[in-house]
Amino acid sequence: MKIAAVNTYVLSADLETPFAYSQAWYATRMALIVEVVADHGLSGFGEVYGPPRPNRGVVEAYAPLLVGEDPFAIERHWQRLYNHLRDHGQRGLAIQALSGIDIALWDLKGKALGLPVHVLMGGPIRERVRAYATGLYRRDRPDHEAYLREEAASYVEAGFTAMKLKTGWGVAEDVRLTRALRDEIGGEVELMVDANHAYDAVDALAYVRKVEDLDIGWFEEPVAPEDYDGYREVKAGGTIPVAGGECSFTRYGFRRLLTERLVDIAQPDTCAAGGLSECKKIADMAQAFGVRYVPHCWGTGIARAAALQLLAVLPHNPPGLHATEPLLEFDMSEHPIRDAVTTEPIVQEDGFVRVPTGPGLGIEVDRATLERFRA
Ligand SMILES: [Mg+2]
Repeated sequence: MKIAAVNTYVLSADLETPFAYSQAWYATRMALIVEVVADHGLSGFGEVYGPPRPNRGVVEAYAPLLVGEDPFAIERHWQRLYNHLRDHGQRGLAIQALSGIDIALWDLKGKALGLPVHVLMGGPIRERVRAYATGLYRRDRPDHEAYLREEAASYVEAGFTAMKLKTGWGVAEDVRLTRALRDEIGGEVELMVDANHAYDAVDALAYVRKVEDLDIGWFEEPVAPEDYDGYREVKAGGTIPVAGGECSFTRYGFRRLLTERLVDIAQPDTCAAGGLSECKKIADMAQAFGVRYVPHCWGTGIARAAALQLLAVLPHNPPGLHATEPLLEFDMSEHPIRDAVTTEPIVQEDGFVRVPTGPGLGIEVDRATLERFRA
């Protein structure tokens, strides 16, 4: 079997209700889907997290290195593609594009062998994963507390036992809304917060000191990803666990976060940090350094399936009869493509999601959707 083609699909969908996080407004959701086609017609799909159009250019730059090659030699391809752009891109687009190709190769291998990716990667260690709801974004309305309370209550109603609030709107405002949400959901449901690096260490710690009594599960991206000393200060200066890593890439990029223990929870995105191959390595590194691993996941059903295949093989950290289990980030914000791109949606039940057990990523991509949302 040889690789015959590498196809890309840039997808776009307008949103009914635009929403914002601390860095930008969203009026559309976009996706870059990668398809690796073998010469006998079988296809594997992957997804790239990051700006779709520039990333498509990088995938196209990698494609000639893959055509005519053995699709099963995934590790060889990873190293070759990484080395191809190493001098020009050890992070960002070069690695995001590589991630989508890597995931598509794993999907193709699994489909060719009739086995789910997590079995090929040594699993399963677990067959279902507890999900936390990502949502609680800003809308273009003045009554933030009212609609955030309503949305948080709807997640509890839907069975979620954990959820994440988007912060980074100013310390006083964040404190007020974090208190309101803790009040709304009660003490039993886990609450995490994510500033998307809106703060410096001074403001991040000012916020931490004012909400330390609220049992916050983690404070995600309190400071800019390049601000390693800021991470160190926020971690040392408060009692809320610090999470980060969705803007970090490969084992090399995570080395400092892990060796200097700058985060309590590492959050590589499977579709950005290097794909399934690399994220398994980062996860094993994290385990060796005693750092938890909860993948960042904010894409379509393909990204969600890839995260689940990885989650199925994440090592316990540490093992035990009551080991702490990793969580699946379950994005609940509006995304018209997310469930449409697979023939069967990936759903949560009572706050848990089953790891897909079909071949490859365990999903079937709906080709009509790829055409319908084509940008
Ligand atoms: Mg985040």
